[in-house]
Amino acid sequence: EADRLEGQLPTIQARIDDTKKTVEAVEADKKAGKLGFAQSVYIFCEFCGDLFLQVLKLLVIPLVITSMISGITSLGDIRKMGRVGLSTIFYYFSTGAIAVFIGIVLVIIIQPGNSADDTFAFRTETVEAKEGQTTMEVFLDVFRGREGDPGSGMFPSNLFLAATNTNVLALIVFAIVFGGALTTLGEEGTLVIRFFNVCNEAVMKMVHMVMMFAPIGIFGLVSSNIAKNGGGAGFLEQLQAIGWYVATVVIGLLIHSLVLATLLGVLGKRNPMTYTFNLLRALLTSVSTASSAATLPVTMECVEENNKVSNRAASFVLPLGATINMDGTALYEAVAVIFIAQTLGIDLSTADLVIVFLTASLAAVGAAGIPEAGLVTMVIVLQAVGLPMTGIGTILAIDWFLDRLRTTVNVYGDACGAGIIDTMVVQKQAAAEPAPEAA
Ligand code: ASP
Repeated sequence: EADRLEGQLPTIQARIDDTKKTVEAVEADKKAGKLGFAQSVYIFCEFCGDLFLQVLKLLVIPLVITSMISGITSLGDIRKMGRVGLSTIFYYFSTGAIAVFIGIVLVIIIQPGNSADDTFAFRTETVEAKEGQTTMEVFLDVFRGREGDPGSGMFPSNLFLAATNTNVLALIVFAIVFGGALTTLGEEGTLVIRFFNVCNEAVMKMVHMVMMFAPIGIFGLVSSNIAKNGGGAGFLEQLQAIGWYVATVVIGLLIHSLVLATLLGVLGKRNPMTYTFNLLRALLTSVSTASSAATLPVTMECVEENNKVSNRAASFVLPLGATINMDGTALYEAVAVIFIAQTLGIDLSTADLVIVFLTASLAAVGAAGIPEAGLVTMVIVLQAVGLPMTGIGTILAIDWFLDRLRTTVNVYGDACGAGIIDTMVVQKQAAAEPAPEAA
């Protein structure tokens, strides 16, 4: 037997040598750039997807800074902000917070990213859960930042480090205070405000340009993702998980719309059914344009003409709302980010959830009323909790659809706000003012 095996040795050695040569040849081909057709297509698709994501990321900081400053300065002198201004902002922030809260609770209950078992195709990296923190530490971290990291937290000691780390929360806070200060500077301030408005328009144009390449970018991301994860069963699981993700967003948007309608009935003393029915044209426009800004003229008309909201309330509440009040977007961003974490098998700590809550609320404020703006500012939330940008690939394919739905809730939130502010503030003020003939 030993002799027989020894006799085979040369043949086996020859086969080993052959295989080694083949491997070397393939490696050499790769190095020389001689790839198979499928490999080349894969690399090209991956390149298109990566480039698209990278450019989106590039636009985040300019977009946040300019849109926050131009949004806050559009309110006029911050010191003279009257009751209408303050109540509107209070309404916008509290309904936004309710929306994010609904989203977070639903995505934690439904667990759309865990609907497939452990073989989930995207579950490639696992990150160790962060050490348990006390509630106190959570708050300190959110405001003061992590120890030894001067670029972190809502109030970092170094703004440039914050920008380098894409700590967008800090930039938003800074931009709000900076914008507010600008409004108190009179003539000189107006000059700078105009400068930031123009910058904002330019950045929006750039977003618009990038969005023209969205079909290619999305195709690249989706196809290379599927190729990388082997397709087959993994792909079906991805589809199944995306189905649950879509369901979570849709259920959340429906619940939030009911909350808005209830507020309108209770605080705004209006019949929610009639009010909503009168808004139909605006709601259909938002579904078809996926842009609250583009829908604004129709919203104004429906609110003033059909629902008889005073011009004083509508002309202030609605334009501001189309820029900063995005309940649907806030809810969607929270769901999407936590869903991405689930698909990656990353456990978000309570501190992370608090950060998602804050950043999603503020990122929605930073989102412009144009198609897919929410997708861009979602990067803020992802970065804030340290999730990889590539996670977006999972949800991109379906985003055109969700964009239309969340935009409609954004518009509905603005319209309900106009009704509520009109009843609670404007009409009361008008009743308290002496009638013109008595004055
Ligand atoms: N398209 C949305 C809007 O115009 C913003 C978003 O992308 O979420 O309200």
